[in-house]
Amino acid sequence: AIEAYVPGKAQAGGVAKVYKLSANENPLGPSPKAREAFHAADALELYPDGSSTRLRDAIAAAYGLDPARLVCGTGSDELITLIAAAYAGPGDEVIYSQYGFLVYRIATLAAGATPVVVPERNLTADVDALLAAVNEKTRIVFLANPNNPTGTYLPFDEVRRLQRGLPPHVLLVLDAAYAEYVRRNDYESGIELVATTRNVAMLRTFSKIHGLAALRVGWLYGPAEVVDAVNRIRGAFNVNAAAIAAATAAIGDTAHVEAAVAHNDTWLAWLTAELTALGLTVTPSVGNFVLVHFPDVDGKRAPDADAFLSARGLILRRMDAYGLPGALRLTVGTEEANRLLVAVLAEFLGKSSA
Ligand code: PLP
Repeated sequence: AIEAYVPGKAQAGGVAKVYKLSANENPLGPSPKAREAFHAADALELYPDGSSTRLRDAIAAAYGLDPARLVCGTGSDELITLIAAAYAGPGDEVIYSQYGFLVYRIATLAAGATPVVVPERNLTADVDALLAAVNEKTRIVFLANPNNPTGTYLPFDEVRRLQRGLPPHVLLVLDAAYAEYVRRNDYESGIELVATTRNVAMLRTFSKIHGLAALRVGWLYGPAEVVDAVNRIRGAFNVNAAAIAAATAAIGDTAHVEAAVAHNDTWLAWLTAELTALGLTVTPSVGNFVLVHFPDVDGKRAPDADAFLSARGLILRRMDAYGLPGALRLTVGTEEANRLLVAVLAEFLGKSSA
């Protein structure tokens, strides 16, 4: 049963329960099979399989891919960093779009390369602008599709136009961390482009739809040369044994994945409608999160909303680091968290929620 939210009940000095809606994690948690495999992991004195063979085979079987063209990483974060390190250095340029995932900047700077930030249109990556930024120094274009934190995406024909417009010395990295959530016929995660071209790599993660963010597992599907380059510089035993076991079990539990997608479908639509009804502007999202804008709604601002929410146990993500100080990003949560969030925001805005 869900307890009704009582306005004004939240007190300073502590909350009964904390709802973390700040990192786009899965409110349903992992598959019970993944949890079981994690707990069953043993032989802890032994190094894990440095090639993550079981896991690569399971991914390959699930998606119809060649396991030789897969690399697993400690989260897709590690793979982003490794790609930047392998392909870009001082004097090279790495392109990503204005509201692109923050790790692209960090990885570019860590590699000693120069970030080139390309303006977006309507909080969506702009293919023409991305292509216009390419020159002989460009080494990588990172594109999160769908993008975090905006929740927007590029349809397949736009991604293909981007790929076709890139010279062969540029690697296009399609980061499809939220691919499973997308319910659009014109979306493609990148598998098809990797399979049919030579300069595209795709990244995926077990942190989102599979609910295994704590274990840090991601994977790359790419050309043999990219796989080889990443394998040469990654840690020899980068993915740990419990993570390999849990992720392998997770990929086999398609019913759990379907349940997570169905939950997201329901509550993403509900949150979008409820927040809009409160007078807030919601960027239409195809992921498991939404960007909510407080363009001075009745004099109420995003940082004040954030403080009000966190005092009541609701943790959202401020967007100042992305240059969007008027927005908050929130992850689709459990039914309880979603309903509480809307009720608390209604109180903050001085409106009654239906
Ligand atoms: N790529 C995007 C677009 C993300 O939003 C995230 C996490 O939020 C990641 C990659 C990193 O995921 P992982 O947990 O696999 O490192």
